[in-house]
Amino acid sequence: SSSRFFAVTQAVERSYIMIKPDGVQRGLVGEIITRFEQKGFSLKGLKLFQAPKELAEEHYTELQEKPFYPELVKYIVSGPVVGMVWEGPGVIASARKLIGATNPLNAEPGTIRGDFGIQSGRNVIHGSDSPENGEREIALWFKEGELVEWTRTIKPWIIE
Ligand code: UDP
Repeated sequence: SSSRFFAVTQAVERSYIMIKPDGVQRGLVGEIITRFEQKGFSLKGLKLFQAPKELAEEHYTELQEKPFYPELVKYIVSGPVVGMVWEGPGVIASARKLIGATNPLNAEPGTIRGDFGIQSGRNVIHGSDSPENGEREIALWFKEGELVEWTRTIKPWIIE
């Protein structure tokens, strides 16, 4: 029997990626967008805005009981954030790899948090942890007309 290589078809997913206030203040917006573009994912939504407290609370509602929750909400509303929707096969898990571990001290060099952070409370970026949460967060942070349907012309060179 012959061994064959074949493309394992990954579901096309969407991830809500948010550059947190420290990432914006530190001038990491371009660097972070570049990493997602170079990986090959497609940008479907992008905006700079000041997060309202209610949205920050709702976004992290699963963490409500955690001791760091109040500080976390303060952190997210402490300055402008950049919200993005990135789309592609397996983007949820892949984005989490690009982002690195929650605690930047444990994050591998080469990941965004590994390269640019020291503390969980200043870890530069958010990425959805499941396809379901991705869709929940996109619906929370973006209005329908803010997302753009388009196809990268380079797509056939990235995705079979
Ligand atoms: N966080 C924190 N202290 C902790 C754990 C988490 O300040 O001990 C913050 C951190 O900014 C993290 C966010 O809470 O990104 C959400 O936590 P989660 O466990 O969902 O981590 P993530 O999915 O962002 O890696």
